[in-house]
Amino acid sequence: MADYTKMWTELGLDLDNHDALLENLGGAYQSIFMSQEKRPEGMGYFDFVMSEAHGLRIQELRDEQEAGRKIIGSFCVFVPEELVLAAGCTSVGLCAGADFAQEEVEKVLPRNTCSLIKSFFGFKLGKVCPYMEASDLIVGENTCDGKKKSFETFSQLVPNFYQMDLPQNKAPMARKLLKHEYMAFVAKLEEMTGKSISLEDLKQGIATVNAKRNALARLSKLRSADPSPISGLDALLINQIAFLDNPARFTEKVNVLCDELELFVKENKGVKAVKAPRVVISGCPMAIPNWKVPAIIESTGAVIVGEESCIGERGQRNTTDDSSDTLDGLIDAVVDRYFKIDCAVFTPNQERVEHIKEMAKNTNADGVIHYGLQFCQPYIMESFSVEKILEKDGVSVLRLETDYSQEDMGQLSTRVEAFVEIIK
Ligand code: SF4
Ligand code: SF4
Repeated sequence: MADYTKMWTELGLDLDNHDALLENLGGAYQSIFMSQEKRPEGMGYFDFVMSEAHGLRIQELRDEQEAGRKIIGSFCVFVPEELVLAAGCTSVGLCAGADFAQEEVEKVLPRNTCSLIKSFFGFKLGKVCPYMEASDLIVGENTCDGKKKSFETFSQLVPNFYQMDLPQNKAPMARKLLKHEYMAFVAKLEEMTGKSISLEDLKQGIATVNAKRNALARLSKLRSADPSPISGLDALLINQIAFLDNPARFTEKVNVLCDELELFVKENKGVKAVKAPRVVISGCPMAIPNWKVPAIIESTGAVIVGEESCIGERGQRNTTDDSSDTLDGLIDAVVDRYFKIDCAVFTPNQERVEHIKEMAKNTNADGVIHYGLQFCQPYIMESFSVEKILEKDGVSVLRLETDYSQEDMGQLSTRVEAFVEIIK
């Protein structure tokens, strides 16, 4: 990586903390990703993006800002990228997957808060996230209680904070609320840019995001082959990069990779042996660099064939209908698409179990590993009924609860190994 010290200083990063983070990240990446065998050549691009995630990509965002584009940072897949792009802005994901500055965090948040929330607070307090510092607007959404209450404190740390309300059920009134919030978000974007979103702008935004989702859906489908042509770790990485990279370039590179994977499938080439145990991971999102559980699963010889997660299928499933010829009609289509997301903050949430079953079937999975972050009430509470319903349907489930530390590696490995033995 070139020397980006000047850019990081201008962004206000704490250079010592940031060096420590990059060193950790680089080490983990080498040992987890680069040690994998039989990786497709197309992964070279994604390795490059990761190596430059805090360098070249941030430089690009700053160049876009110079040219007048605004950068919109968000924590949730409910913030529609279609609207952001239509307003001539760029969307980046801000969720963080590593512990940082935890002592500082516990001065402002209770200890028993989920790692994801503590992590983005730590990235802010430790001044190590260039995406957060480069964002012109940071959108917080009222989903779980942990997030919405913590945003009350977070909004005092970031001057450019914008709050979005979200429904908690799928009633007609709830859809009205979502539309109302998306209209308010459009107004905020228009105020920031000084320009109204046109029908053509939104058509273009929808086309770009639909193309990205179609490419990711193509990748997901290829994983149903046995042997699977790509590891779950690499597929997760691609889904994580989807939140950071330029969307058009990313789509092109995912399609190039898929062309290669199609050949692998034709030639019966895979990352693991034929008939390797196949697992779907379901539950909380896994932000970069949260690779602990997938690394453990694949080290047993099993292969992860799908992620039922916001960084994965739940976030990317469904495209937006672009057929309306009115702006309001297109906004309705955006609302309809997002209203289908089955996050565990919704109640009731039967759709999620149905989606997990469908994924297990379509990917020919032998079992489901439910991943919950400690203190995440929505997903952990829901995991009990998910397990019960899936097992009734003949799908084996292992429920794991963990955080971002490495302390429970031994215990997790033992449980995952035992589960993989059972589903073999
Ligand atoms: S799990 Fe729920 S709150 Fe979290 S990113 Fe997904 S939709 Fe948003
Ligand atoms: S992991 Fe759970 S508790 Fe944490 S932010 Fe997401 S939904 Fe909320």
